[in-house]
Amino acid sequence: DEAQITRQLLLSFDPEIEQRYLRRLSIIIELKQALAGNQQELSLAYQPKLNISANKIMSVEALIRWNSVKLGFVSPEDFIRIAEQAGFIENVTNWVINRAMDDGQLLLDAGIDVCIAINLSAHDVMNPELLPMVVSQLAERNLPRSLLSFEITESDVVKDPDKAIKHLTAFKDYGFTLAIDDFGTGYSSMAYLKNLPVDTLKVDKSFVLKLNTQVGDQNIVQTVLKLAKSFGMDVVAEGVENQETLAMLQRWDCEYAQGYHICKPIPVAALIEWYRSHINQNWLENT
Ligand code: C2E
Ligand code: MG
Ligand code: MG
Ligand code: MG
Repeated sequence: DEAQITRQLLLSFDPEIEQRYLRRLSIIIELKQALAGNQQELSLAYQPKLNISANKIMSVEALIRWNSVKLGFVSPEDFIRIAEQAGFIENVTNWVINRAMDDGQLLLDAGIDVCIAINLSAHDVMNPELLPMVVSQLAERNLPRSLLSFEITESDVVKDPDKAIKHLTAFKDYGFTLAIDDFGTGYSSMAYLKNLPVDTLKVDKSFVLKLNTQVGDQNIVQTVLKLAKSFGMDVVAEGVENQETLAMLQRWDCEYAQGYHICKPIPVAALIEWYRSHINQNWLENT
């Protein structure tokens, strides 16, 4: 049949394209199955964000993990994009939000008062059903709205700023705090940056990973800090991998830091343990 012919054509042309195509296809099939039934393949890892001046963890980011029986560990960088393109990112997002609420309850039960940041894709932000769904599920579970916040990547906002502003405003009106993720990689214009109803800019980790040694990155991060201040927004530096970078961010009055130096993304049980063992940690004691 036609599919067979296409396959053979591709194969004869370029086995690499054939491989990529098959990989994509199996990610779609396996991920749909994981979402439908084999839910033990999916999990969330949580990465704390440090409030630098308060020396305190007040929020964590939920990051999806997929350990597929068939495909092994698949990175969210790969499968999130594929789920978006294949039209079922909504199912992934619903799964993430549900699990985050389960885990949020565990954290509250453990006496940890925390806000969990959920990563949204462009499609989620434009989906008018998402917000009412989140609000009603929180109410059903008797959880406060302050349990969740949302991150949306800069490149998604840039695609259609006016529409994004409209939808993000709806999130704000429901009382959720918002962050622009991967800031600095999406060519935002000042004109609508000032109109974005967001509380926080997360400066992309590509500018932060080597902040302690790269003068160019230092200039960029300081510029983002000034920009954010003039718009009344806070800044999270993601990808903080060493103490010198953390100390630098403190000197520049950056509000939040997140990265392997503070804590890697970990499962909820480990997070509860981590909280207990880091309750008295002085993050800047040696600087
Ligand atoms: P992101 O939201 O910008 O998340 C930050 C990524 O940087 C995470 O990768 C995190 O593990 C990694 N990271 C954190 N600290 C450090 C560090 O100090 N050094 C380095 N080298 N990396 C660090 P991860 O978990 O692989 O996620 C990649 C991306 O996949 C996320 O980028 C986000 O865009 C997307 N993603 C993850 N989970 C979800 C989800 O539940 N929904 C959606 N829509 N996207 C998600
Ligand atoms: Mg994020
Ligand atoms: Mg990011
Ligand atoms: Mg990113």
